[in-house]
Amino acid sequence: MIPTLIVSAFEQTAFTMEAGAFEDLKTRLWTFMKSDIYPNEELFRRQNHEMASHTEWIHSPILMELQQKAKSLKLWNMFLPVDSAIAAGEQGALGGGLTNRQYAEICEILGTSTPTEFASEVTNCTSPDTGNMEVLARYGTPAQRAQWLVPLLQGKIRSCYAMTEPQVASSDATNISINIARDEARQEYVINGRKWWITGAASLHCKIMILMGRTDSSSDGPIYQSQSQILVPMDTPGITLLRPMDTFGDDDSPKGHMEILFEDVRVSFANVLLGEGRGFEISQGRLGPGRIHVSLLLAFQSNLVSKYDDKHCMRAIGQAERALSLTCQRVQERKAFGKKFSQLDTVLQDISNCRVEIEMCRMLVHRAAVLMDERGNKDIETRQLLSLVKAHVPRTVQTIADRCIQIHGGMGVSQDTPLALIFLGARVLRIADGPDEVHMRTAAKLELQRQKSSPLRDIGYYKPDRTKIFRKSDEPVSPETQLKLDAFSKL
Ligand SMILES: Cc1cc2nc3c(=O)[nH]c(=O)nc-3n(C[C@H](O)[C@H](O)[C@H](O)COP(=O)(O)OP(=O)(O)OC[C@H]3O[C@@H](n4cnc5c(N)ncnc54)[C@H](O)[C@@H]3O)c2cc1C
Repeated sequence: MIPTLIVSAFEQTAFTMEAGAFEDLKTRLWTFMKSDIYPNEELFRRQNHEMASHTEWIHSPILMELQQKAKSLKLWNMFLPVDSAIAAGEQGALGGGLTNRQYAEICEILGTSTPTEFASEVTNCTSPDTGNMEVLARYGTPAQRAQWLVPLLQGKIRSCYAMTEPQVASSDATNISINIARDEARQEYVINGRKWWITGAASLHCKIMILMGRTDSSSDGPIYQSQSQILVPMDTPGITLLRPMDTFGDDDSPKGHMEILFEDVRVSFANVLLGEGRGFEISQGRLGPGRIHVSLLLAFQSNLVSKYDDKHCMRAIGQAERALSLTCQRVQERKAFGKKFSQLDTVLQDISNCRVEIEMCRMLVHRAAVLMDERGNKDIETRQLLSLVKAHVPRTVQTIADRCIQIHGGMGVSQDTPLALIFLGARVLRIADGPDEVHMRTAAKLELQRQKSSPLRDIGYYKPDRTKIFRKSDEPVSPETQLKLDAFSKL
């Protein structure tokens, strides 16, 4: 069983930010976004692209400069939720002390930057590190936490998470097949196989990987105890970074998404997280109150292990707000066929559709965050809402971005607006965090379970009255109807 976190009211209070301080935090964050993030977006992208031409990928200079500033302004580690912070013991004090509900608001503000993760990277709130840090906080031993969690929280190193494999459908985590064998003599695991799409692995700042793989290859063992999660230092011999995978033609340097070959990669037995065969348990916990930063690390629901936590959905809402804001300015400036765009009915329909969709997404996200805070991740309604949010928010934001692009005309697909990036980001998210269909499948299965205790369940259908007969085949018709039938047959 996953260790249960018993959190006393005293501990909660000690790690939680009170309302006034939270309002102050939001104000300071908005100020920082305006003074340092938005004005540097183009520079950040340019410096990142310059990195693509060689193989020694490191943070861009502007990222490092802004990280220093964010840290000094205490706009740092806001992601680490109260419960994970408590689990991490004294190291939890390095977290921001926010509830999931509070972090939902922070994430939306961070998400108004483009590229989506720019502000999150600057403030040490970016995937896959956030999810990895939560796993270490909740399941790491004191030694594992000291070695990896502390430098991650300090922003001195980065991490990656390796689950997806080219040869199997990885949206079903039970398919994961990379082999992790035991060498009893040397007390080491030996890893052989291949992974791909491993975000962050190519950065030279990335020092640690959490790898999900098969420690029990027998075909008759319990399927949900066949996988383990293991800490693999990135400088372990036998790891070959083969190539960065492109998303829509971009290699996303210097973070990137790598295809990786593992050839006799050896790590100590002590590197296993939580215990051998408990990989799925970690995934289940990773969805936990650590994260309705609603949509990305390791949501485990039936057969799904998503790689991220829920932060992406929150950020996606920020992206939609940015797109709508640009669009509302544009329609008041341009004219066609004698009218301002803002007077064209279809444009007005598009704008109000965007607004209602953003509001609905936000309500879903906030509701899920509250459920995470109040009931935890094992609650059935929480789990269902998380799945729905993960499927619904990215595709809705994609539709919103699409509308905004259309209203901008040619400019909408150009480099002069962030709209194309927003559109592509939402599109990629619909796969990167586990495909839409898998989240919807999970939500539907949970719905079938929830319906079993619905107060509406036993109401049933209306009872048909089968005592009365409409008419029989050999029943004579009335003379008037017969006349009409005869007239019709003469036509
Ligand atoms: C930008 C990016 C970053 C990523 N980063 C990471 C990372 O850091 N670490 C990592 O391990 N992985 C990462 N991934 C991989 C990502 O998580 C997987 O691509 C995703 O889980 C889908 O797995 P798959 O590619 O094997 O597709 P498959 O499992 O082969 O699925 C293909 C398609 O089949 C359909 N499908 C699957 N199941 C169902 C179902 N039950 N019902 C209906 N249709 C279904 C869906 O349409 C799905 O898109 C990343 C991917 C991208 C694009």
